[in-house]
Amino acid sequence: MFIGHFALALAAKRAAPDTSLGTLILAAQLLDGLWPLFVLIGVERVEIAPGDTAFTPLAFTHYPYSHSLLASVLWAALFAGAYMILRRDRRAALVLAALVVSHWVLDAASHRPDLPLYPGDEARFGLGLWNSVPATLILEGLLFIGGLGVYLASTQARDRSGGAGLWALVGVLLLAYLGAAFGPPPPDAATVAYSGLLGWVIVAWAYWIDRHRAPAVAAVTG
Ligand SMILES: [Zn+2]
Repeated sequence: MFIGHFALALAAKRAAPDTSLGTLILAAQLLDGLWPLFVLIGVERVEIAPGDTAFTPLAFTHYPYSHSLLASVLWAALFAGAYMILRRDRRAALVLAALVVSHWVLDAASHRPDLPLYPGDEARFGLGLWNSVPATLILEGLLFIGGLGVYLASTQARDRSGGAGLWALVGVLLLAYLGAAFGPPPPDAATVAYSGLLGWVIVAWAYWIDRHRAPAVAAVTG
């Protein structure tokens, strides 16, 4: 899944209003932020296999350290623990932990069975939403609209950057999503990994947007 992860991060702003959107997106996308690094250093593998599922030409052949269920729980504990030490906000830390693990759950809904429960496990899980392009676009699109709606109801722009910056980010996410869905397959795994690193730019962008937005006056934030 792709924009579905961003949907949950956007919606989580309501549950953790003092936490930057950048941190929320980093949590929801942490596994996909680590994955290209692990591919580039050679401990995880992806293959270009058009038709692997209808939605993506990527075959995730080996990614136990970023995308096993156990790894996601450990990354969640590390991430939320670091946040707790830095910010002393237990509720927000729990939201962040849930976001990290939610990535595995959403991926398990969309991928074909390619997700292990723990490194070394032979069994693979995945419900295969990606076998249908229309079902993927509709479900993930609705999820994204819902998450964006919650975020818009929970925050308001402080200035023009807070409005334009957010809508530009939404536009880039949608273009990247449709490009991945309908564009040509990438030439090789390294290209996939390097373009995956752009996710870190999105995180930095979200930190910038958050500084230009404030909690909505009428929002229920408790
Ligand atoms: Zn993923």
